[in-house]
Amino acid sequence: MLSNKRWTIARLPRHNRTMSPLFVLLALTFNPAPAVGHIPRADMGPPAVGPRTELQPSARFRAKPPGKRYSVTVPIGRPKPALPLPAIEGPANPRLPLVVIDAGHGGHDPGALSPHSGKREKDITLALARAIRDDLVASGRVRVALTRSDDRFLVLEERYGIARRLKADLFISIHADAAENETASGASVYTLSEVASDREAARLAARENKANIINGVDLGAHSSDVSSILLDLTQRETMNVASDFARLLQREAADDVKFRTTAHRFASFVVLKAPDTPSILFETGFISNKDDAEFLASAAGQRKVARGVRNAVQVHFARRIASVAPKSP
Ligand SMILES: [Zn+2]
Repeated sequence: MLSNKRWTIARLPRHNRTMSPLFVLLALTFNPAPAVGHIPRADMGPPAVGPRTELQPSARFRAKPPGKRYSVTVPIGRPKPALPLPAIEGPANPRLPLVVIDAGHGGHDPGALSPHSGKREKDITLALARAIRDDLVASGRVRVALTRSDDRFLVLEERYGIARRLKADLFISIHADAAENETASGASVYTLSEVASDREAARLAARENKANIINGVDLGAHSSDVSSILLDLTQRETMNVASDFARLLQREAADDVKFRTTAHRFASFVVLKAPDTPSILFETGFISNKDDAEFLASAAGQRKVARGVRNAVQVHFARRIASVAPKSP
């Protein structure tokens, strides 16, 4: 059959020989012969012209059910095993709340680009995530894990998946926005809603959700599961806690970080869809704006963002603990 395949390709007119690999794939896979490993000896000759019986496979091969006559192969690689979990940093006390910080984008996905400095969102988010981690660890009040601590790509579901597997109490995804209007500036905090609070929020969610799509293949297509989960009461409670934290973050970070007028917005971000982990997406500013870009790229600016997040995290858990009746010893 191998000679037969060569024959198929060799007979193509010259311009067809240079056609896309997809054509070659189809030429090979639509061949009616079974897989190479099961080819009966009689089938190794030239294309069939004689009576059908001449090509009947031996008894050994006849005993097998007929193989598939064609198959379609999509080269997206094997399903990945679950990612190794990141290290948890901070006090070794499992009773302390765990905060997962997610540096947006990474690897082949640079996120937004600053037209001023050429800085990439993925580098700014990683620097901010590290600064926030350092500040939270130094507070000694919470444990912290980063979804990524280097320049790597993670599918959106893997990001909140890490938080869920670690049983995190709070998930904060860090981003930096970009807009065509270079005067747009300031930070916003997004929480999950299937109905976006405004058109801009919907557009931003669509852009951020695109991180999952590579060469037209959606690497994390589970939206139907998520939709049904959204009806769950657990998710409603989770969303309420996330909204409380979003308001708190704006209040606690306002001295250090410039926020937009309507700073708390809602949209359907995939990365916020953990049903049981309160999650927010912190758009720390616009790297398309000169002042914001400089602020977010500077160590001083990153420390200010980190301080704002740390203050909000501390108040958040102090409130949560106070609101829960003390458990019996
Ligand atoms: Zn982003």
